[in-house]
Amino acid sequence: MKIGIPRALLYYWYGHEWESFWRDCGVEVVVSGPTDRSTIEDGAKVALDELCLPVKIFLGHVIKLAKRVDRIMIPHLIKVEPNAYICPKFMGLPDVVRHTLPELVDQLLIVKVGPKQVDQFKAMQTAAGQLGIKIKNQKSKVTGLNPALKCLNNLSKDRTHHQLTIGILGHPYCVYDSCFNLNLLKRLTENNVNIITPEMLPESCRGIGAGKLEKELFWTVGRYQFDALEWMLHGAETQIDGFIQVMPFACGPEAIVGDLLERRIKQAGKPLLKLSYEEHSGEAGVITRLEAFLDLIRYRSKVC
Ligand code: SF4
Repeated sequence: MKIGIPRALLYYWYGHEWESFWRDCGVEVVVSGPTDRSTIEDGAKVALDELCLPVKIFLGHVIKLAKRVDRIMIPHLIKVEPNAYICPKFMGLPDVVRHTLPELVDQLLIVKVGPKQVDQFKAMQTAAGQLGIKIKNQKSKVTGLNPALKCLNNLSKDRTHHQLTIGILGHPYCVYDSCFNLNLLKRLTENNVNIITPEMLPESCRGIGAGKLEKELFWTVGRYQFDALEWMLHGAETQIDGFIQVMPFACGPEAIVGDLLERRIKQAGKPLLKLSYEEHSGEAGVITRLEAFLDLIRYRSKVC
């Protein structure tokens, strides 16, 4: 039995644990390769125009896996923590895949997490049971974010006095998928910029930002960004010179969360660059805006 896992959406948070779970079950795991232009084109060709780019990319990964595996895992993540939800497009993801790619219906393996049962490990066990896999001595557990994301950078440890530090805000599948964001992190690194991402947030800082909002946010990823923003603004180890918001075009939650984040950044008096992406975005436009933004921050730091 070969199970395919699309390298998309919250694979960037939980994928390492999904892989270990299936390996512990004695199943061969195939993860689709990093997103490339053909993944985006395949997904965009079959998807409804109204869907956000990350879901189109997910469909592209499903298409890439179809011929290589027996079953394709579709993470149906409704809720992964109490009192917050993942976005409506995650809730409808199995239906989106079924209706867009009806020829693959028999291959889909839906792993449903929430709305009542938010334990991903139990949800994976249920899915394994549907395949007739008996779980014994299962070592893995779905406990948290990919630890590799936490140490992407050495924070300010290796920071030289002239080096800028930029806080990146965005969903993990936008920040870490370099084809989606047109090599944003690579471009920043090439420009000698120190990068801080939400996933470096220390566990002890959960709730420091979202918890202060007048009204509670419904979305887990949005809450995470608020906590990260507050930590980036006040953490002694962060010392942020400016922020970049990585936003997918046609994202419902981001229309609200992005605006609230922007207000908080403005209130803190920090420069902000908002980059919005859809499938026709071009790298040249990103490079121009990025270089202008970095020049402005450097100029600002000299005159202030
Ligand atoms: S949160 Fe936004 S980008 Fe992510 S799946 Fe939902 S609509 Fe798409």
